[in-house]
Amino acid sequence: ATGSNPLGYRWAKALGHTIETPVPSLFTFNIPDSRLQDLAGVSVKQVCLKLPDAGKTLKEQTGPLLITHWGLSGPAVLKLSAWGARVLRENNYQMPLLVNWLPDYNPDRLRKLLLDVKSQLPRRFITTSCPIPIPKRLWVSLVTSVGVGAQNRWAELSKKTVHQLVQELTQGRYLIQGKGVFKEEFVTCGGISLKEVNFKTMESRQCPGLYFAGEILDIDGITGGFNFQSAWTTGWLGGQGIGNS
Ligand SMILES: Cc1cc2nc3c(=O)[nH]c(=O)nc-3n(C[C@H](O)[C@H](O)[C@H](O)COP(=O)(O)OP(=O)(O)OC[C@H]3O[C@@H](n4cnc5c(N)ncnc54)[C@H](O)[C@@H]3O)c2cc1C
Repeated sequence: ATGSNPLGYRWAKALGHTIETPVPSLFTFNIPDSRLQDLAGVSVKQVCLKLPDAGKTLKEQTGPLLITHWGLSGPAVLKLSAWGARVLRENNYQMPLLVNWLPDYNPDRLRKLLLDVKSQLPRRFITTSCPIPIPKRLWVSLVTSVGVGAQNRWAELSKKTVHQLVQELTQGRYLIQGKGVFKEEFVTCGGISLKEVNFKTMESRQCPGLYFAGEILDIDGITGGFNFQSAWTTGWLGGQGIGNS
């Protein structure tokens, strides 16, 4: 039960175990991007995040999102970092990220809503009348990114800009350029291969009399206490196993 300390992996390897390469999991994303600048602290209740270059097996993740002064954090990001821990590492933490700020709206519904506002409230300024449930400051930043100025009214919104805005709101493209600073990640993905451990007792199948528990094993969970639970459960099983041996 040495956690993710490299010495534990070395001992286990020397005793005949296979170590699935340990990589960090549950980390935040560094995204230097003008759209996120000055928005540190802004949170959105529900977004959908996707790594478009990660292949089809990696599912998109939804959940709350927090904009930080270095990029993006919050449950949706942490979950994506857990499921994408290996592919992100393989790409040196440099990958495109698609952000859907409005997963409950499909693009056609959103386009119609924006066009309705344009026809019903043509004299209103775009930046100060946000018709969708996202924080006002985020709205201003996103409409600014598609070329809307503080003096532009809804009547002036062209079809092309509506299209760009729908894209920006439902498929905003960002570039991950690193993970949160070293040592901030919460858990390690990888460790002792599970095939080599008897899960009834946590005894090694390679080296009888040796028991494992916790993060040294190739188990990692998403946020929500699952890593603690895994450490406690395997610790309890291992203790019982040792006591009964
Ligand atoms: C900042 C942070 C936040 C986290 N938040 C959560 C959370 O909210 N929910 C959740 O489920 N999980 C969370 N985790 C993960 C969770 O803490 C770990 O998964 C869990 O503690 C693993 O338990 P463990 O006993 O296997 O290892 P550890 O808790 O890492 O304990 C290993 C112990 O072994 C000792 N050790 C290592 N090598 C040696 C040696 N050679 N000789 C003697 N002693 C040694 C270490 O000093 C350490 O005390 C978080 C982790 C971090 C870093």
